[in-house]
Parts: sequence; structure tokens; C-alpha cells
Amino acid sequence: MTELEALMNEHISMMKPYSSARDEFSGEADVYLDANESWRGGNDGINRYPDPNCRKLRKKVEEVLGIPYSMSAIGNGSDEIIDMLIRIFCRPGKDSVMIERPTYGEYGVMAALNDAAVIDVPLSSTLDIDEEKMIGTIREKKPKIVFICSPNNPTGIVYSLEKIKRIADANPGITVVDEAYSDFSEGFASAVSLIADNCRIVVLRTLSKAWGIAGARIGILAADPQIIAVYSKAKAPYNVSRLAQEAGLEALGRAGIVAEDIAGIRKGRERLQAFLLLFPFVRWVIPSEANFILLGVDDPAGLCRYLAGHGIVIRDRSSEPLLDGGVRITIGSPDEIGKLEEAFIGYSKE
Ligand SMILES: *Cc1c(COP(=O)(O)O)cnc(C)c1O
Repeated sequence: MTELEALMNEHISMMKPYSSARDEFSGEADVYLDANESWRGGNDGINRYPDPNCRKLRKKVEEVLGIPYSMSAIGNGSDEIIDMLIRIFCRPGKDSVMIERPTYGEYGVMAALNDAAVIDVPLSSTLDIDEEKMIGTIREKKPKIVFICSPNNPTGIVYSLEKIKRIADANPGITVVDEAYSDFSEGFASAVSLIADNCRIVVLRTLSKAWGIAGARIGILAADPQIIAVYSKAKAPYNVSRLAQEAGLEALGRAGIVAEDIAGIRKGRERLQAFLLLFPFVRWVIPSEANFILLGVDDPAGLCRYLAGHGIVIRDRSSEPLLDGGVRITIGSPDEIGKLEEAFIGYSKE
């Protein structure tokens, strides 16, 4: 038994997968009478089932994002991948996952869905991961999965790759590094490079943020081929629709435009960061590496209410640990930033 097999739930790693029509025949034919589809189709081929293994999209992912084909799989958003990873590695009612709050809420929700306990090791007072406390808690509580989000949501802070490596190496379980916002971070060092030396590291990427297709639901799993194989047989056979796969191919084909958008977001981020600090009711602003800014204000609920009254929605994060007064604002278009700035000026005069 390999190290990874020993970590997986046996009922899943030993499971015989559903073999779809598109798995059993993957060549080119004139007449497809194997999957009970409708013969009547438009030009988009939507009458046909999609490729269960997203092969074209994964080749494009290798070409554009540098994730080797044999180490990738596609999910219906990374949210689906988070759910599947917990299902694959955590025995319901027995195993646990570790998170470092404040962070992305889906890890806890997906753990609850799969009856896995959540161990929280809070971030340090500077909102960095606390390496010593994390490694100590890993040794004591033995979580099956440790989730690390970098750049973190909702802080926008990037954690050092060396620190992530040390934690993952000390963790006998799986370490999931969620890099949903990595595209926005200049000179970002991805944990994908660590997988070759530590097969227990798993990386998540998404086309929902910088790549602009949140509505299509394309999440990317980068992992050891053994994990890819088990994920691929455990997921729903046609988890990523034909439309979504095509949207993914198209998005990755626009790398030049996306790079310009990212440069624009970074500029908007600098502009907004400087602007926000002008107001006395703004207590702190965290320098962000993502496409959002987290700031602390005197009256978060009141600010959110005022802005909503002016047609602008932001996210109140003030109930999260360590985020007293915290609200999160996405960097929109220059026009949207302008509207937000106007509303802030209005609010300051109330
Ligand atoms: C937005 C986000 C995702 C993306 O999820 P998708 O399901 O791929 O849209 C993943 N992780 C974090 C931390 C996020 O903020």
C-alpha cells in the first residue's frame, strides 16, 4: 500500500468506478449510439455529453498555467474539489480537518457536510499562519487534511512558501494549498512546485477570479497522479459541462487580456488602499495581494447599510476572529471604484 493509499478512505480508493460511454470509447466516430443522447444537435454539440476527463482543457491548463497534465483534474468549481477531497480522505464521524481562521468559509461547511470535525488554529496577531502552533496541533490532533489559503481570503495576505513547505512536511496527512487568488500576487511562488517532493501536498486553482469565469464553474486540482486517479473515479462522471469546458478553454486563450486586467486590478488596489486611509473612521487597511481589500472601520454594519442604500454591496467580515470592524471590498472596474469612493465621501459627511 502506498503512503497516499494508506491516507485514503478504503471504500473510495478500492471502489470500482462508473464507466461512462465516453470513458469506454474515446476515439472519433461518425455515429454515436452509445450514450442515449439526442441525435438532434445544434452547432455547439450540447446534445452530447462532455468529456469526463476534460482532456483538452487540461492540456490548455498545462500550456498556460504550467500544471503537468498527469497532475491535474477539473472540478465544478474548486468548491466541488474541496468537498471531494474531504470525502476521499476523511472518515465521517472520525477524522478532522484543520483551518486557520479567519479564512475561506467553505472548508468548514464542506467538513460539516461530510461529518468531519474542524480544528481551528487561529492566525497570529499579524494575520500570518502560526507555524509552531500549527505543527504542534497537527502532532496532537492528527487532522487528515490541513487547509492553507494563500493569498488568504479575506485578508489578501500571502504566506511564505518555505513556511507552507515546513508545515506540509511535518504533516503526515494531506495539506491543501488553496491558491484561488495567486494570479493577483506579483512574483507568486506556487506550492505546485512542492508536490514532486511531497505527494501529500494538493493545490487548488480556479478560473473564477482573475480568469473571469466564475459563472462557468472551473476549479483546478493539482496533485500527485494517484490522487488525480482517485478523484477522477470518485467525482460525478460528467461534473464539468461542455459549456464550462469550452468557456475554460476560451478564458485560458485570453492570457494577454487577463494579464492586462490583473495589472488594472493591482493599480485599482493601490489607489483604493491609499484613498481609504484618508478617513478617520477607517482604523486599518491590510496591504492585499488579491483582488480585494480588507479594512477595519468604526461601524462595519452601519457602513455596509449606507453603501447598500447607495447601490453598493460589500462584505461585512467583522464577526470573524481577529477582524474587529473588518469589511472586505472587491476591486471592481475604475468606474466602480469611483462610485465607491464617492459613496465613502458621502458616508464620511453623515
Ligand atoms: C473564490 C474562492 C474559491 C473559488 O471557488 P470556485 O468554486 O472555483 O469558484 C476558492 N477558494 C477561495 C479561498 C476563494 O475565495
